[in-house]
Amino acid sequence: MIKAFRQALPILENIENAGFEAYFVGGSVRDYLLKKEIDDVDIATSATPEEIKEIFPKTIDVGIEHGTILVLFKGQTYEITTFRSESEYEDFRRPKNVTFIRSLYEDLKRRDFTMNAIAMDHEGKIIDPFLGLDAIKNNLLQTVGIAEDRFSEDALRMMRAIRFVSQLAFDIEEETFIALKSNGALLKNISIERKTKEFEKLLTGKNRQKAIELMIESKLHQFLPGLESMESGIKKLSQFNCGKLMLTEMWVLLLYSLGIHSKASHSFLKDWRLSNQKMKEVEKILAFLEKRLVQDWEVLSLYQAGEAISISVEKIKNVIHNELIDNHQAEIKTRYDSLPIKAREELAVTGRDLMVWASEPGGPWLKELLDKIEQGVLLHKVKNDKEAIREWLLSCNPK
Ligand code: ATP
Ligand code: MG
Repeated sequence: MIKAFRQALPILENIENAGFEAYFVGGSVRDYLLKKEIDDVDIATSATPEEIKEIFPKTIDVGIEHGTILVLFKGQTYEITTFRSESEYEDFRRPKNVTFIRSLYEDLKRRDFTMNAIAMDHEGKIIDPFLGLDAIKNNLLQTVGIAEDRFSEDALRMMRAIRFVSQLAFDIEEETFIALKSNGALLKNISIERKTKEFEKLLTGKNRQKAIELMIESKLHQFLPGLESMESGIKKLSQFNCGKLMLTEMWVLLLYSLGIHSKASHSFLKDWRLSNQKMKEVEKILAFLEKRLVQDWEVLSLYQAGEAISISVEKIKNVIHNELIDNHQAEIKTRYDSLPIKAREELAVTGRDLMVWASEPGGPWLKELLDKIEQGVLLHKVKNDKEAIREWLLSCNPK
């Protein structure tokens, strides 16, 4: 048994000693069987959250109504979820109320894909009533039960299918894919937050090209914000070899592929409910990318963009032009490092200095003059030195 599970064994044992069942389940067991790295282990149990609270002194309620509770144990936190069934679905969404049950089998049955419906007990024994191991061996995504029914219960599972393609490079089993192609419209019932979460995992998976192609083939894009009639743009995205791009960079590449200009990108990103900070970053990278695609970096652009943004821009430009990424990144970093200042606060003069020199109160002239000095320093017209700047200003305009 690997370390992540071994460390969590006392949790299973404590629950079992109290007379309940407990297993490792879900993504952690799947990733372990795939020999991938595991971040968190998920635990499922026949004990209710209240019963778990009696067993462990330190717990945090995170989603009691869904049967989930966090247990703090030896410096780690563990998510423990009570076996539940979700038999009554409303409007193609996951159910509002869940029913706690005592059967592992029923809990595994409500899970989305066979590879995610495998449990492991405290001895490392695998419990796999839906043949998830076979699916993993054959790199296949297959719903537990009839795909059509499972997608109607919770349409988000269709997006989960293609994001798992992106992360795991699996194929989608035939019946599952047929159901995927004919049920996309049900995604209208899913909250945008849940869709965004899966879409972002799709954008950052290693196998995103294939996942994006499947998204087009299944027409799921027609039910996603801003992508409704964008087939050719999305195809363009699927043709880029976007190896090392990170999440915000992928959003930028998506907008670029769709032909959405930076000035028009805000409403697209807002429809996906990205955080303000992420939207700002994406918009800034896109704006500088547009400039970079028509000309080389100027000192002022490099300064205004900042180091992180300029490197992102360069990476995306490399992807668009199918160039090697690493070489250019280092060059941009060297150029950025050689800027005389990195921020206005590093200027050797302040607004107060200027007011004293001019014997005038502040006003619009002050900002204009500071802009001028900033540019002068960046373009090496004057050294970033208080006296040198004063002389330079006098020589430009003796008043
Ligand atoms: P990741 O590694 O990205 O976290 P995951 O499979 O663990 O992938 P989670 O969203 O953390 O995904 O869900 C944990 C488990 O809960 C899944 O493995 C699956 O068994 C079950 N599950 C999650 N979402 C659904 C859903 N919409 N319908 C049915 N079962 C689900
Ligand atoms: Mg998980």
